[in-house]
Amino acid sequence: MTREALSTPIEYLKGVGPQRGEALKTHLSVFTFEDLLGHFPYRYIDKTRIYNIAELSDEMPFVQVCGTIISVQEAGHKRARRLTATLMDDTGKIELVWFQGIKWLSSTVSVGRQFLVFGKPAYFKGTYTFSHPEMEAFHPGMTDKLSKFEPLYPSGEKLKARGLDSKGISRIMQSLLESLQGQITETLPPSVLHSNGLCGREQAFQWIHFPKDQAQLNQALHRLKFEEVFFIQLRLLRSKQMRLYQHKGFVFEKVGEHFNTFYHDHLPFALTDAQKRVIREIRGDMGSGRQMNRLLQGDVGSGKTLVALMCMLIAIDNGYQCALMAPTEILATQHYHTFCGMLEKMQVRVALLTGSTRAAVRKQLFSMLEAGELHILIGTHALIEDQVRFKNLGLVVIDEQHRFGVEQRSKLWQKNERFPHVLVMTATPIPRTLAMTMYGDLDTSVIDQLPAGRKPIITSHRFDAHRLTVFGFVKQQIALGRQIYIVYPLIEESEKMDFKDLMDGYESVVRAFPPPEYRVSIVHGRMKAADKEAEMQRFAGGQTQILVATTVIEVGVNVPNASVMIIESAEKFGLSQLHQLRGRVGRGAEQSYCILITGNKISADARQRIETMVRTNDGFEIAETDLSLRGPGDIQGTRQSGALDLKLCDLSTDGEVVKQAREAARLLLQEDPGLQQPAQQALLLHMKKTDEGRLLWSRIS
Ligand code: ADP
Ligand code: MG
Repeated sequence: MTREALSTPIEYLKGVGPQRGEALKTHLSVFTFEDLLGHFPYRYIDKTRIYNIAELSDEMPFVQVCGTIISVQEAGHKRARRLTATLMDDTGKIELVWFQGIKWLSSTVSVGRQFLVFGKPAYFKGTYTFSHPEMEAFHPGMTDKLSKFEPLYPSGEKLKARGLDSKGISRIMQSLLESLQGQITETLPPSVLHSNGLCGREQAFQWIHFPKDQAQLNQALHRLKFEEVFFIQLRLLRSKQMRLYQHKGFVFEKVGEHFNTFYHDHLPFALTDAQKRVIREIRGDMGSGRQMNRLLQGDVGSGKTLVALMCMLIAIDNGYQCALMAPTEILATQHYHTFCGMLEKMQVRVALLTGSTRAAVRKQLFSMLEAGELHILIGTHALIEDQVRFKNLGLVVIDEQHRFGVEQRSKLWQKNERFPHVLVMTATPIPRTLAMTMYGDLDTSVIDQLPAGRKPIITSHRFDAHRLTVFGFVKQQIALGRQIYIVYPLIEESEKMDFKDLMDGYESVVRAFPPPEYRVSIVHGRMKAADKEAEMQRFAGGQTQILVATTVIEVGVNVPNASVMIIESAEKFGLSQLHQLRGRVGRGAEQSYCILITGNKISADARQRIETMVRTNDGFEIAETDLSLRGPGDIQGTRQSGALDLKLCDLSTDGEVVKQAREAARLLLQEDPGLQQPAQQALLLHMKKTDEGRLLWSRIS
């Protein structure tokens, strides 16, 4: 693209002018020709032809079908009324649904009549459904004047007042495309275009705005989505390549005394095969001379902590220090206790550093760290403060990664002249396409097996009204010696309502489980760290049987004797959060239970989340469902990752494009690692240009 033409201020476009220009800037953030080019239609209307029912698919825009009504039904009453009709053509049947205007419709839409129906096909329970379709009584002549494929653009009242409704925008878009003719240059090399069957860039912009038919639209979308993810993948793979060539890693040559002593004398249980394989993979990296950057995925309870610990022992065997960074103080503290317990009989020195570590302790800790007298430092993001200096940091493990921004990660890496090896562990599995996009520069290891003897957690859904029955069950479990979590949502620790719910809940729990027979702990975000810690310890040590808590216990907390997880207002939680919470039980040999309590009325989405939880314990399956329910924008941590500024691509449905683009980027770098061939000019230019854009952003914010 020619920079000048594309960066022309929007008011200079034919048909725009100062006033409309102002409106476009204010209401659509369209400042330049290029911005307008990227203002894509949100929907299309396909009146080019009448589709056969058998041809319909979910991806189709608004389309026309023609057929005969074969049945009509009315259901519900008063405000929840609904009219459904079945329409049939020679190739199949569809459902038509209306929630409004039923009185009028039921007199028009009657069995035996023929209609031209116009709507958006959506697949639901085995058939395609059109909700609130437009209906026109069919007559034979009408097929002669079929019109065209029409884009619909996002607009607004203020824009409409300036003649920029969808049609108006469509008109200036026409004039834009005319004035840019020949100036929308290609960004992808010919080989990539060719082997992936992609249309050219100018063509794609022409077609995404004004497709002649569905096929052209699909081609345009495919091309532009591909481009979107291709550059992300190219960047990720290049940074990986750069790391491999440029950053030499510490070589951990041997597996020595610490590792061997632990393995033979202190390992509390046999490792699972998956744990063994993953340790081998990590060891391979750390011995290779390259700097390791590995993502460790594993379901809740699969034993990632132990893997981290054993890898650290290898680092220590080779004379290096290690750091373990956790997202919360509770979790860091718990890791600290776990490590101390496991390493009790060994000569490994472990320390804890969090926001509430006292100044005097800190000072001593820092000097020991710099003198190389500490082997393992565990902590929260306090670890990345500047005063924290290691003598020779060799391995950094980041637990429950999604809570940390990319920047925080790299700050830790830079604590040495030479980057330490980095192992990133996720709290719950991440869907494949998302992992590829967010962590595509990392190598991946997966623990795909739970320790032997784990009984699958039994999950059930109960309504508020049945809380007493649930409490009865809790009493039985306590009588068996088990412990119970009761979790309340506290999305923002400052939300007054939620906090009140929590305290009310706590009081009613204490009323139902009175002392001295029962003892109840409470932990929430407003408590001081020391108090939180004391309460956690009382529960972990078995002095209290019930822990009432907010999601501060969401990640990582490990009390194997706890066998019941009760989640209050479960409808308010996201799917991966529910799974993560459930993962707090089922850690011992006992049968464990998860009870999801909700109000009577819950949204369709919440219902699906609850049903998914009841159906499966498989974190990988849950991650995929979560992505398809919510889309990537909402998945925890993705927003700050910055990798997901995707305009067209939807990672929950466009997995194929992501894979294809990654493969194409990989091939390109394999053939031309330095991207030095002339064919790559356009591509480099495009990357440079978008990099500049990014820089600008970072300066602004
Ligand atoms: P996560 O992967 O969720 O972080 P943890 O590392 O907290 O899981 O491990 C969960 C529990 O399983 C801990 O109590 C841990 O001691 C135990 N565990 C880990 N590995 C094994 C194993 N191979 N056999 C039995 N129990 C194990
Ligand atoms: Mg963990």
